[in-house]
Amino acid sequence: MSTSKNEPSFRESVDLMFNRAVDLMDLKPGLVEKIRVCNATYTVRFGVRLRGDIHTFTGYRSVHSEHMEPVKGGIRFSLGVNQNEVEALAALMTYKCALVEAPFGGSKGGLCVDPKAWDEHEMELITRRFAYELIKRDLINPSQNVPAPDMGTGEREMAWIADQYKRMHTTDINGAACVTGKPINAGGIHGRTEATGRGVQYALRAFFRDDEGIKKAGLSGTLDGKRVIVQGLGNVGYHAAKFLSEEDGAPVVGVIEYNGAIWNSEGIDIEALKQHILAEGTPKGFAGGTFVEDGTAMLENDCDILIPAALEGVINLDNADGVKAKLIVEAANGPVTAGADAILRDKGVVIIPDMYANAGGVTVSYFEWVKNLSHIRFGRMGRRQEESRHQLIVDELERISRDTSINWTLNPDFKSKYLRGAGELELVRSGLDDTMRIAYESMAEVWHGRDDVTDLRTAAYLVAIGKVASSYHSKGL
Ligand code: GLU
Repeated sequence: MSTSKNEPSFRESVDLMFNRAVDLMDLKPGLVEKIRVCNATYTVRFGVRLRGDIHTFTGYRSVHSEHMEPVKGGIRFSLGVNQNEVEALAALMTYKCALVEAPFGGSKGGLCVDPKAWDEHEMELITRRFAYELIKRDLINPSQNVPAPDMGTGEREMAWIADQYKRMHTTDINGAACVTGKPINAGGIHGRTEATGRGVQYALRAFFRDDEGIKKAGLSGTLDGKRVIVQGLGNVGYHAAKFLSEEDGAPVVGVIEYNGAIWNSEGIDIEALKQHILAEGTPKGFAGGTFVEDGTAMLENDCDILIPAALEGVINLDNADGVKAKLIVEAANGPVTAGADAILRDKGVVIIPDMYANAGGVTVSYFEWVKNLSHIRFGRMGRRQEESRHQLIVDELERISRDTSINWTLNPDFKSKYLRGAGELELVRSGLDDTMRIAYESMAEVWHGRDDVTDLRTAAYLVAIGKVASSYHSKGL
């Protein structure tokens, strides 16, 4: 979190960035205001009897824009949750969904609770009670408002919410679509848990296909060999770090957690570090690198790519000057304050903005929602058909080679890969990759094509706001 007195709040940062973009657009001021403001925020205070006493909790669900419905966005469990934060996050959801063409408006929820302070059964009671309050007001509903995991929540909470909805709407055949990020056995989709981290990987791959972008960042070559620092080894940071280091040859040299950091210039074994943290609760004592007490200072260490994947405001007026990375990927929502953004732009640092970089989560949520509404898993109808058509070609090639006595055989690895039809996970990854590529191209076109647009964030806002505006236009506004 930012410590500087002159730092705008997260909410103000989002507004400042929005304003920078709309200044470059030709929109009527009334429409700009309509798009900017948060439509509604519902605040609920409820009591739950726990440990022999009644404990009161405060929660929010903000709806930023209903230009498309349902509205979509996660539910966060954290003691830091407040109305301003939830509204800023809801606004980012609107732009994120527009940018990646997920057909939703933007929303976000939050509950002021420390999930570590309560046991599983207590958390279930708290979550179900919060869900009950939102469900009875249609703030959780398959056709109106569809939450998902966010900081402090995951599959477990989503399963409770879905079950709570079904108890309250026993005849709704589409009930499972009231929330995404559910476990597979409760109507979830393969690849949702890894989706945001996977999206970060696809975003970086898309960036490294853009020669002009690479040049603007002062980088060269490919993702292979680029040194990465990841801040936050939660669901998003862990998956991003794992995929980049294991699949793209980009060593993760630094991992920053809230209670210390690990440095290893040869690259950290992410899976081993994750297991260590799960077992010990701290990166301290991890044998595969050097432990550093003051983790935050590592944000300013030398690296090529910095991936803040935890809280908002971690790169701020206090440390922006010291950042040495040439490329920042905002895997978290709002990790760079508006003040830091200006400093980094001046330094020539390229920032892949949150609304794009972490859109993998909502993209796969969209696939899950479609799966729930169609009541069939992706790939179920076509997979074996695809396999038998591929088998035909392989058989035919092998026959030709026999009949013409040309001496060649198919590589067994090629054969097994080619013969395997796509299951749900392959289809989800393919759909996510396609989404991330297309969205990157739409931003890059504006970034490289307009002289008045000098950064990817402004380009992303221009594309997203343009889409929201045309949606309002077609509604007659
Ligand atoms: N909480 C995630 C986000 O900030 C996912 C939202 C969703 O899947 O609806 O994008």
